[in-house]
Amino acid sequence: MNRKMRGLVGCVVLICCVLNGALGWSKEGHMMTCKIAQSLLEEEAAKTVSHLLPEEVKGELSELCVWADQVRHWYKYRWTSSLHFIDTPDNKCSFDYARDCHDPQGKQDMCVAGAIQNFTSQLLHYKHGTSDRRHNMTEALLFLSHFMGDIHQKLYFQPMHVGFTSDEGGNTIDLRWFRRKSNLHHVWDRDIILTTLADYYDKDVDLLLQDIERNYTDGIWSDDVASWSHCNDLSECVNSWAKESIQIACKWAYKGVESGMTLADDYFNSRMPFVMKRIAQGGIRLAMILNQVFGKSEEGFAAAT
Ligand SMILES: [Zn+2]
Repeated sequence: MNRKMRGLVGCVVLICCVLNGALGWSKEGHMMTCKIAQSLLEEEAAKTVSHLLPEEVKGELSELCVWADQVRHWYKYRWTSSLHFIDTPDNKCSFDYARDCHDPQGKQDMCVAGAIQNFTSQLLHYKHGTSDRRHNMTEALLFLSHFMGDIHQKLYFQPMHVGFTSDEGGNTIDLRWFRRKSNLHHVWDRDIILTTLADYYDKDVDLLLQDIERNYTDGIWSDDVASWSHCNDLSECVNSWAKESIQIACKWAYKGVESGMTLADDYFNSRMPFVMKRIAQGGIRLAMILNQVFGKSEEGFAAAT
């Protein structure tokens, strides 16, 4: 990594620490996705990832998994702000890349699904020794790691990472989460996980992470993990991950919810497992991409080369 980039990332690490308390679940969700991914890296990929990370984070990818959110409003990175989400037309519970993957000005590929393919392609050039100086590999790694969280944890931020256009991804659906004022977007972005942490894990993210890991190693999801991470053609896989998100949004996030409602135990208990599963899927699939991209095998993604 060049010196300028090291300085930049180091500075962002500091900012992250300072803002830590204000970031809420968005940060916890991204960190868990990245911790899961890093724990599943094979030797080659693990080495390359730690080589690309700035020294300050001591090999911890999760420390920089919200970096992409920290810089999205900086002048230099303003072009990345539409890469954090997909807006689908209202009530269309489907994702169509050609129809939906664009920025507000209509520029194609400028959505989270396009970004994952783009940054994966850039990282493939690293392995092939053909990296282009314009594409900083550390940045590509950090963007990819963040966007794999976004495409799975959707129903986030502004708009919800995968949400409807007219309600800005649930941001305009004001309601109460138990006794507190919130909105649908924040419920999925932050409230479900914070309530989970407070009610069941004494606010300890590592304990929650251990439970999620147990679920996919020898628990309720262990039979599904192979299918989650199966992927020959990255563009097809990315599209299907986005579809999963929009379907969860339709079936579980938006269903039966109206402005002014109070969401409490029933909503929490039935939706919380989806949030946890998406964190696990994001991490497992990020590991799959990094293992393919940085691994020794010559096989790569046909679509990403
Ligand atoms: Zn994001």
